[in-house]
Amino acid sequence: MLESVIKRVTVFKNKDALYPEFIPPTLPHRGIHIKQLAEIFKSLITSPGSMSLRAMLVGGIGVGKTVTARVFGYEIKHLAKEQGLDLRYVHINCHRDRTLYEVISEVIRQLGIPIPLRGLSPREMMIALLSYIEKHNIYVLITLDEFDYFIHTAGNDAVYFLVRLYDEYPDVKKRLNFIFIARDLTALSTLDPTTESYILKHLIKFEPYRSKELYDILIQRRDLAFYENTVSEDIIKFIADSEGIDKGGEGNARSAIEVLLLAGEAAEHEGSHIVLLEHVRKALTVTHPDIVKVSDELNFLQLHELLLVKALIRTLRAKGTSFVRIGEVEEEYRYICQLYNIKPRKHTQIYEYVNNLKHMNIINAKLSGKGLRGRTTLLSIVAPLDALEKRVDELIDKRLTTERNTL
Ligand code: ADP
Ligand code: MG
Repeated sequence: MLESVIKRVTVFKNKDALYPEFIPPTLPHRGIHIKQLAEIFKSLITSPGSMSLRAMLVGGIGVGKTVTARVFGYEIKHLAKEQGLDLRYVHINCHRDRTLYEVISEVIRQLGIPIPLRGLSPREMMIALLSYIEKHNIYVLITLDEFDYFIHTAGNDAVYFLVRLYDEYPDVKKRLNFIFIARDLTALSTLDPTTESYILKHLIKFEPYRSKELYDILIQRRDLAFYENTVSEDIIKFIADSEGIDKGGEGNARSAIEVLLLAGEAAEHEGSHIVLLEHVRKALTVTHPDIVKVSDELNFLQLHELLLVKALIRTLRAKGTSFVRIGEVEEEYRYICQLYNIKPRKHTQIYEYVNNLKHMNIINAKLSGKGLRGRTTLLSIVAPLDALEKRVDELIDKRLTTERNTL
């Protein structure tokens, strides 16, 4: 028994290279985008502090926006260092940090700046941040990822505050620079036109990947993650063709890499020395596009939002209808909280969660027609319930473990 576990065949030499957090050494087919970023931000190195620079990255899911910003941040930081410049890179995901207060405190936290935040307003925190980096001669490039979400939840004034920060202090050195990332530009139209034009000054578009491009991305991952001769080029081409935009797929590199991971796991599970087409087919049936679409967002949900999604899944399953009433879901949510021995959140908070989940496209919400008891909110989910529940359960476990460890 022990022997069979220890000697089990594995095709992976480094599975980590297939996980979403992994940052590859180079980015096939995003060289032009990195070059465009370099053009926009070059005066950060050549005449630091003269201007606050901004770029906006736009494109659908899994087209490499996040990873491109991170790789560029890493590269420019090192280039600056060679010039004796202290440039820091900060990456904020606005699904997790949703308010101006949260964004600024997260910037301060990632920079490791010892400013006591308790009781400060966002403006006071910003002033403290600016004076600290002035005193220590630090420059910062801040990426605000999923920025459309921030626009939506934090609103025009918060965006105005961040984007037009230096309008108020024209004479100081401009030490904060921004990369904004969004799925599309519709959210921007809710901003006042001047703020919008500030953000749109330098726009870089990310197109969905073609099958040929995905092939190169997958080959790189294969070589990093798998032992030699365990995954043939035919297998890689098969996956690339199933996801390429030119072959009817979504052009999403995240799904393509996940299929490769799951195919490897299927091979391992069956004790196969190589990954076969059969394993890829199996992987393709479990990576449902609707789940891949929300898998990034799920990672950033708070514990109670996850519990609420779980409650919705269970209610939908029990009722067998496409929509259920929010009251029923809340009841199930309180029951689940009881099971986990967690204090449930109040009704008003639940409403806020529902709004957040709706804006992240994890759930659908609509108003019912006028019934006996007036209107109510109806909720539903598009993604397959079983697979989604499995993800949600994993994340709930993770959140509970970290919470208990920090207590
Ligand atoms: P987005 O932010 O546009 O949704 P990501 O940057 O998260 O997309 O990319 C999705 C996944 O695909 C990540 O694992 C990322 O590392 C990988 N990826 C995307 N583009 C490339 C590329 N050009 N080369 C290598 N890996 C890539
Ligand atoms: Mg992203």
